[in-house]
Amino acid sequence: ITSYQNKKVLVLGLAKSGVNAARLLYKLGALVTVNDKKAFDDNKDAQELLADGIKVITGSHPVALLDENFELMVKNPGIPYSNPMVKRAQELNIPIITEPELAYQVSNSEWIGITGSNGKTTTTTLIGLMLNEDKNRRGTAYDAGNIGIPATAVAQKAGADDTIVAELSSFQLCGIQTLHPHIAVLTNIYEAHLDWHGNRENYVNAKMRLTMNQTADDYFVMNWDLPEMHELAKRSKATIVPFSRQGAAGAQAVLTEDGYLSYAGDKIMKADAMQIPGVHNIENALAAIAVAKLEGVSDEAIVAVLQRFTGVKHRIQYVQTVNGRKFYNDSKATNVEAASVAIQAFHDPIVLLCGGLDRHLPMTDLVPLVKKHVRALVTFGETAAQMNEVAKEAGVPFTQTTDLKTAVPLAYQASQPGDIVLLSPANASWDQFPTFEVRGDVFIDAVQQLAESEA
Ligand code: ADP
Repeated sequence: ITSYQNKKVLVLGLAKSGVNAARLLYKLGALVTVNDKKAFDDNKDAQELLADGIKVITGSHPVALLDENFELMVKNPGIPYSNPMVKRAQELNIPIITEPELAYQVSNSEWIGITGSNGKTTTTTLIGLMLNEDKNRRGTAYDAGNIGIPATAVAQKAGADDTIVAELSSFQLCGIQTLHPHIAVLTNIYEAHLDWHGNRENYVNAKMRLTMNQTADDYFVMNWDLPEMHELAKRSKATIVPFSRQGAAGAQAVLTEDGYLSYAGDKIMKADAMQIPGVHNIENALAAIAVAKLEGVSDEAIVAVLQRFTGVKHRIQYVQTVNGRKFYNDSKATNVEAASVAIQAFHDPIVLLCGGLDRHLPMTDLVPLVKKHVRALVTFGETAAQMNEVAKEAGVPFTQTTDLKTAVPLAYQASQPGDIVLLSPANASWDQFPTFEVRGDVFIDAVQQLAESEA
């Protein structure tokens, strides 16, 4: 393991992962400086770190700070490589890592890494639940990473018998060096986050970093329904374990023609016995089954989890029923692909609440789906007018409003008993909310209020 004793490290960008990284480095004897853009007065994280004895510089990212001979930068995944501080660090050949890499370096557990454009959190959650469900397994499986639990915090408490199930975004993967999962999972690759990575090749390359340190003793679980994966598989040294919902030849985990989730030819359970809706969740279940089987988890444990699991919060999460309308919170759907998936997950007519941050992306892919599945749209946020255009092109009625709170009763008015009322915004939340979680909570509250006023 790398020695951090007296090593001069700059932690760039705080938030949960930066705070945990700074504390860990300090504990390991590093000379830690933290730099965060938020002003000191309303920067609780920086205040606490300072109280711990860590040097903090707040309010801006002063490039001159890099004259201080740092030996390592731990960069928050949200800060782009185009940031002047990051550029300067690159010019000075200062290694730049992200917090999961640091976590891996101090960990003595086995790692399972999950990445992909969509389905990461659901698949990660399913894997963690399945591993822990089998009481014959040694140790505990801990979820970590992009799922909202800093990997450094988990890595310090997990032991040699434990497993770390890490959801890793492409932003986090850009800053790994030695991170080496025994099992890697690539759920899918869609056109998300291209604005950050610049182009598709960079985005794909970032995802493929998850397998770069793997050897033939390791496994790489891939979605065989996407032809691109067959090419990408050639770039990995790991043993490829493909999954397929659509009967792709050579897949290990598959949905059979008669509707069973199966592995290596053995039927495990009927897919429609799962609680979570939609074909996308069949894919997530297949990926999780592949990992669980590779880890020796029993079929009984796999089945128990898939029958019980009702979904991750804010991901097509069932909220409640109001006068025959089922309300679902899919606030996590921050792009067109995710919203498309949600729209297709239901058989009953949908009243769709959508709109959000304007990233200047086309929404036209939604038109045929809206035409087929949606009764009415209620639009809000920066892209409301753009979403209205989708409705117009699909020939579906729409109502535009200012915000999500007012959108909920409008959606109710546009719905009929038996309908699905679905928040699946197709856009990021940052035009009106600090996070997609807050957006989802606002929706849940508004549905609760509606239920009370309609009772
Ligand atoms: P992530 O962590 O990658 O953002 P989540 O599991 O949190 O993915 O799911 C977020 C949303 O993405 C879901 O609500 C759904 O709309 C969509 N989604 C989930 N799984 C898949 C999948 N396998 N393929 C396509 N879309 C998916």
